Order: sequence, then C-alpha cells, then structure tokens
Amino acid sequence: MTLTAKNIRTVYIDHDVQDLPNIQPILDYFQGVPREIVDGPTAVFRRVAEAPDPISAAKEVLFLTKNKGAFVRKCPGTKEYTCCGYQILHIGTFCTMDCSYCVLQAYFHPPALQFFVNHDDLFAELDQVLESRNPEIRRIGTGEFTDSMIWEPWSGLSHRLVERFGRQDHAVLELKSKTVNIQGLDKLSHNRKTIMAWSVNTPEIIATQERNTAPLHARLAAAAKCESWGYPLAFHFDPMVIYPGCEQEYEKVVDLIFDHVSPENVVWISLGTFRFMPDLKAIIESRFEKSKIVYGEFITGLDNKMRYFKPLRIKLFQVMAAALKKRAPQAAAYFCMEDDEVWRKSFNQTPDLPSLLDQSAQRVCLLK
Ligand code: SF4
Repeated sequence: MTLTAKNIRTVYIDHDVQDLPNIQPILDYFQGVPREIVDGPTAVFRRVAEAPDPISAAKEVLFLTKNKGAFVRKCPGTKEYTCCGYQILHIGTFCTMDCSYCVLQAYFHPPALQFFVNHDDLFAELDQVLESRNPEIRRIGTGEFTDSMIWEPWSGLSHRLVERFGRQDHAVLELKSKTVNIQGLDKLSHNRKTIMAWSVNTPEIIATQERNTAPLHARLAAAAKCESWGYPLAFHFDPMVIYPGCEQEYEKVVDLIFDHVSPENVVWISLGTFRFMPDLKAIIESRFEKSKIVYGEFITGLDNKMRYFKPLRIKLFQVMAAALKKRAPQAAAYFCMEDDEVWRKSFNQTPDLPSLLDQSAQRVCLLK
C-alpha cells in the first residue's frame, strides 16, 4: 500500500526543513490533509505514544524531517551468523503496510513514519561513497528500516536514486518492496544498476500475516514488468513460516516466480525463517489476535532471537535449495543470518557470502 492522502491523518513538518525546495511539491500532493509545523520529533512521538495502539497510529502520521546522521550505514548483522556485508541507505522509517511479524514494530520506540527530505545531504554523501569505489560497498538498499517503494510516487526519490546509480558502474541499488508501486520506472536510465526486489511468501502467509500488502500474483506481475524494462531482479523469502504443508507451498512460489521471470535476470534470492526478539511476541499477540506464528517450535538463538529448532529450518531449506536448483541453478541463493552447519546441510557449501553476492551483481548488473 502506497502512502497517500487517503491513509494519512496529519502531516508534520519539522521547522528545520520547511523551506527546503522539495517540501512544497510534497505538501501539494497531501493537499487537504491537516498539517502542522513542529520543533523536532517530540510532539509527533508524544501524540503517537498516547494513542491506544501507537503502532497503528504511527502508520497514519507522516513526519517530514532531516536525517541528521549518516545516510549510508552498514547493515546491523550479528557476528554469530554469516552476514552478507550489505549497506543501508537510510531514507526514512516505518511502513504503511502491517505485517504481523514486522520487526519494526518493536525496533522504534515509539515508531514513526518519518521521511527524510534533506536530499542534498543524501546525494552529497552518496556521491562520496560511490566515487570512493570502496570494494566493501557494492550493494546498497533502502528497504531495511522501511519499504523502499511506499514513498512513491510523491517523493520522486527512487527516480533520482535509480538515475544516480545508473551513472556509475561500481555498486548496485536494491529497492525492496511488497507493493507494486513501479509507475514511472520504465522511463529511467537505470543502466542495470538498480535491482528491483520483492519480498515473497506463500498466499496463505500473505493473506493471514501481511495486511495491506500486494498479493503474490501482483508482486510477480510487477517483477515481470520491471524485467521487461531491463531491470535486474531479486526475491526475498523472508520470513518463511513453518506450518503444515508449507514445504509444498514454498516450492510452488519458486515455480510461480520462474513462470513470470527469467532466472538469468535474478541477481539473488534470500532465504530466512521467521525469527523474533522476545519483545515482539506480546506485540503480535495483542495486534494480530488470530495469528499463530509465535507458537511454533522455537529456541533462543545466539543473537537472543527466537528461531525455529534447527532441524526444522534445515528441512525447509533443503526443499527450497532443491526447488531453486531445478528452476534457477545460476541465481545466487543465500541465507540471511544462518550458521555454517545450516549452509553445509542445505547448500553443501559455506561460501564467502559477500563475494558470492558481489560476483552475482557483477555478472547480472554488469558491474566493473
Ligand atoms: S512490508 Fe516490511 S516494513 Fe512494511 S510492515 Fe511489512 S515487514 Fe514491516
């Protein structure tokens, strides 16, 4: 679900940014929505925190503000599990969609739908990063603290980012979404340096756990459209949820993906089973009363997150490894946050993960 005037109750504007040139077009888009100039985030956070369900309330207020910290940051992996060396481009926080398992519900205190509008600072920092050609910064994505595409079409940010990445050959941008907000991407000079990525799941999990997201067939149709416009693609099976019959259902999703798109254009496919910080359990129980996802066979992992018992994870991953080998043998499939044993038992290897992904990006996105 995109972020529009229909689902926002108030637009707050940080007084620091009210005179930036990109503010007025945004306010024009949100014409008719009450707006208020505020001095920093305190008033916004207080209003959200006072609501009966602050998480739902936070999805209905847009706060236009400045990112005062770094825009490009290392993804916070954990040393106990194999990490992929990804970089986050921090464009905003939180999301209009509402997935039961969403870690962002417990990550921000309180949460807020913030969009950082100091784009001159963003692009100045990005220019520096890209011009440095740092070999450790080759994969950058905006979809870690938010969904990459909910800010379209009113922000224009994806368009600027796609074209900026299109003018260099060292790194790729990944835009990850559960929406189908791809309007306008066809006209951009992307030069294959932007990967359009979708998080995917079984129709059962999408219907029961992912409120306000696009259905699977719509995500795959959007992926096929982007492929026809020359974009490389990626898919993220994360979080995979274990339930009776899930193996066959996830195998069917693999088949559906490759009924829509060609494996040669897929840069990577990640696999990760449902895991959660203990704090998230109470949030899911109170906000998603019908959800049963927190009642599986979980143990506490080395990162203190609850994870499915390892043999259950390996069993599902082995099914997925076989399905992917059959339909997309050349696509780089990888685990987000798993250990060597899981890698060996599922993929018969323990790779240098950053190199595996960099090489795949070099091949499919024509990096130098
Ligand atoms: S789409 Fe992603 S960011 Fe948005 S609610 Fe779902 S999991 Fe969270």
